[in-house]
Amino acid sequence: SLTQKLNDIFKKLRGKGKLSEADVKQAMKEVRLALLEADVNFKVVKELVARITERAIGQEVMESLTPAQQVIKIVNEELVALMGPAQSKIDFSKDITVIMMVGLQGSGKTTTAGKLGKFFAKDGKKPLLVAADVYRPAAIKQLQVIGDKVGLPVFSMGQQNPVDISKAAIEYARKNNHNVVIIDTAGRLHIDDELMDELINIKNAVNPSEILLVVDSMTGQDAVNVAEEFNKKLSLTGLILTKLDGDTRGGAALSAKAVTGCPIKFVGMGEKLDDLESFYPERMASRILGMGDVLSLIEKATADFDLKKAQELEEKLKTQNFDLNDFMEQLSQVKKMGSLSQILDMIPGFSQQKLKGVEVDDKELVRIEAIISSMTPSERSDPSIINGSRRRRIAAGSGTAIQDVNRLLKQYEQTKKMIKQFTRIEKSGKKSRQKL
Ligand code: GDP
Ligand code: MG
Repeated sequence: SLTQKLNDIFKKLRGKGKLSEADVKQAMKEVRLALLEADVNFKVVKELVARITERAIGQEVMESLTPAQQVIKIVNEELVALMGPAQSKIDFSKDITVIMMVGLQGSGKTTTAGKLGKFFAKDGKKPLLVAADVYRPAAIKQLQVIGDKVGLPVFSMGQQNPVDISKAAIEYARKNNHNVVIIDTAGRLHIDDELMDELINIKNAVNPSEILLVVDSMTGQDAVNVAEEFNKKLSLTGLILTKLDGDTRGGAALSAKAVTGCPIKFVGMGEKLDDLESFYPERMASRILGMGDVLSLIEKATADFDLKKAQELEEKLKTQNFDLNDFMEQLSQVKKMGSLSQILDMIPGFSQQKLKGVEVDDKELVRIEAIISSMTPSERSDPSIINGSRRRRIAAGSGTAIQDVNRLLKQYEQTKKMIKQFTRIEKSGKKSRQKL
């Protein structure tokens, strides 16, 4: 898969210490091949690889402590830029938001109509599903079954003219207080004029807020060509990529926005009617690059400039002069990097340590900063002096509860304990130092 291939390329890069221009160029050749094999549009590949190469052989990468990781970070950023910016918002500015679902047969229109209805209903909207695929009675039945499952009404008029059905559906919605109308239209196996004319007629009749093209991401570049055609005829407002749960090669997701200029708004992640997600380019890029290994490397690369701080911290840890000032310093790093375990991971020998009880979330970080700020310098450098009355004063000063102060001090103690364990391991020399 694309993910596997990119991972292999990056692994090779990481095996080298400093990177030469030739190293980068060789790696980029392989990235290009991997993207083409994943069925990404060749023009998109060409431009993408050119941008990545230009940035990757720039000074900041070559002179960085972790050049391979910087390259990965650049690849990630360019993938995100290619698929973004995120625009999963739907235009709800009208009294009744009319959404037209269009796409080839089997792409997932009917299923996605139901998924979207459910998605909007959760958001407090009152959706109406409309059966405007009239060529097979089974298609109407399918939408009704889906409507039942998601608890939404389905408007249908049997096999009448889809334009009339769509207009009548909006009348019905107005009378029955539906504020979202989702029209499930017919598809064909291939694009033809008859289908396009019908869709254009519906569009002209109902003036939809959104025309969403549903594309099967399993079909790779074909999906993108289809999107281009539909966009020319209908001026799409967005794309929905379905079947991303399958073994897709990633090509459709990577090329669709770049080729059509239409944002990907949602992605279908399974056959169930809950399996719809807003599209986030960052998430997709992470998926393509592989969630685990490579992502953490990106994070470390982002924190490259923090390496010196990490080294200082390592010194602190060894001498065990780890006070609340250091704790605070560490937390501000955490804020930048996302998680405490990551910065501790950067310290050689630390990665195997369990970090239970030390994880903090963003909101808590703000609280902790407030609490430490309310302490006197002597309290910060020797937290053991913080008795009951000091705790009360600190809580009052920082606008927190005593329990918050207690919890913070406990977290600090836990961190300190871990550090002790860590220093012992370091001293006993059982763990070999890992290369950063
Ligand atoms: P339509 O012809 O465009 O209306 O497509 P359907 O909604 O009938 O879907 C065709 C098939 O694709 C059905 O079997 C769906 O269950 C399946 N399908 C749709 N979306 C997804 C998805 O996101 N993931 C998976 N695995 N299957 C999907
Ligand atoms: Mg259908």
